[in-house]
Amino acid sequence: MKGKGSYTKGLISRCTNYKDSDIIFTLLSEQKGVQNFIARGAKKPASRLSGHIEPVNFVEIYYSSKSNLPSVSQIQSIDSFLKIKSDYNLLLQSQYLVELSEKFFTDISDSKSQLEKLIETINQLSSTSHHKLIILVYEYELLKSTGFGLQVFDCLNCSRNLKKSSNYFSYFNNGFYCLNCLKEASPSEELIKFTVEDQIVFRSIERRDYVGISKLDVSDVLLKKLSDCLKKSISNILGVQLKSSRFL
Ligand SMILES: [Zn+2]
Repeated sequence: MKGKGSYTKGLISRCTNYKDSDIIFTLLSEQKGVQNFIARGAKKPASRLSGHIEPVNFVEIYYSSKSNLPSVSQIQSIDSFLKIKSDYNLLLQSQYLVELSEKFFTDISDSKSQLEKLIETINQLSSTSHHKLIILVYEYELLKSTGFGLQVFDCLNCSRNLKKSSNYFSYFNNGFYCLNCLKEASPSEELIKFTVEDQIVFRSIERRDYVGISKLDVSDVLLKKLSDCLKKSISNILGVQLKSSRFL
């Protein structure tokens, strides 16, 4: 191929129509994190680019890197996740994972391995029925890999090992207070009581004990509680609630 272009692979997170026939899209690229591209003429029926540009498509693109908004001249789908897209709920869940990842992608040093984890997680959604648990594990580990991980073994205030008892979760500080330190929390800090059983799932994810997690009988009520806590931590870190999280 002529010219000084580059190839990269990535997952499309967003697309916007531009002018009459162009599409601008955002790619979670394995090399440079979040990148925007323009596909000129992609909306024309005869364009070879058109069928490949949609959210939650894993693609390889060839682009020229001369401007802030590089122009794509070739695009090829590696995985279009057709199984996911044939199920509306799976698609909503995948869009949430992609939107969440995009927000944190610039803080991640190794975007290639994060992209692999994201693709693996989306594929897991279509192969099991434990969707909420899979999303929870992904959210938990994404926070950890971007330096916002939860503190689940030691108290936020005294740093002592948390006793095997009820402890109090603070999404404002991403961790737990022991009973002795409850009075040290700020009055405006919303605290949520976690029983010993409630704490097992976060502790298992922290230990990467996935076999152990799969054997736990996590009730829907507990799963919702853990998921709500993580989503509150995430919106606290980002300063906004993710649009796609409202539909989960
Ligand atoms: Zn303490």
